[in-house]
Amino acid sequence: MGFNSKLQKTQQDLIDLGYDLGPYGADGFYGEYTDAAMRDAAGLDRVPGAVPTALDSPRDPIYVTPQKHFTWKEVKSNTEQDGRVIRDAIMPPEELIPNVLEIAGALEELRSFIGDVPIKVLSWYRDPEYNDYLHKKDPDGVSKNSKHKQGIAVDIAVDGMAPQQLYDNIELLFPRCGLHAYSWGVHFDLAKDQNGQIRLARW
Ligand SMILES: [Zn+2]
Repeated sequence: MGFNSKLQKTQQDLIDLGYDLGPYGADGFYGEYTDAAMRDAAGLDRVPGAVPTALDSPRDPIYVTPQKHFTWKEVKSNTEQDGRVIRDAIMPPEELIPNVLEIAGALEELRSFIGDVPIKVLSWYRDPEYNDYLHKKDPDGVSKNSKHKQGIAVDIAVDGMAPQQLYDNIELLFPRCGLHAYSWGVHFDLAKDQNGQIRLARW
């Protein structure tokens, strides 16, 4: 790969997110540092050689939304190995991406509704094995059929906003979504219509 201006913009995004791109920084050339950072940010760590393809795909390799407020890294599930939690490790499978995009669109709407305040994502997609692990640890607190497993739920918090206030804002904006306020923030998921299609219904 030679010089690529699209790659250079992506490299700048990576630097803004705190990735180390090495001595050459955002130079528009595809090297070792860029490769490692892109795999991590894009959730492609399990697909060797997939990153250059992601650069040419319509989907942004780093951000979930065109507004660039939420990243694939925030979507990714933690996992568990020998009792140790591995963070941000697993991307949702392709068939769940539309669900993730629904939530992402809702989060962007919410972010602008509350005055363009950053929203902290605490948990979004949850790998089935990781959800089972959490469920075993806390059978009453974590549902076996959590909507996080479908990518249509997200746990969020906003600095300086009480969970109940965040809850009230979400309820105003999306009256039919699933909501629960906790001490750490709010769980938020999408409702299904009569045909079983997920959607945000508002009235
Ligand atoms: Zn939740």
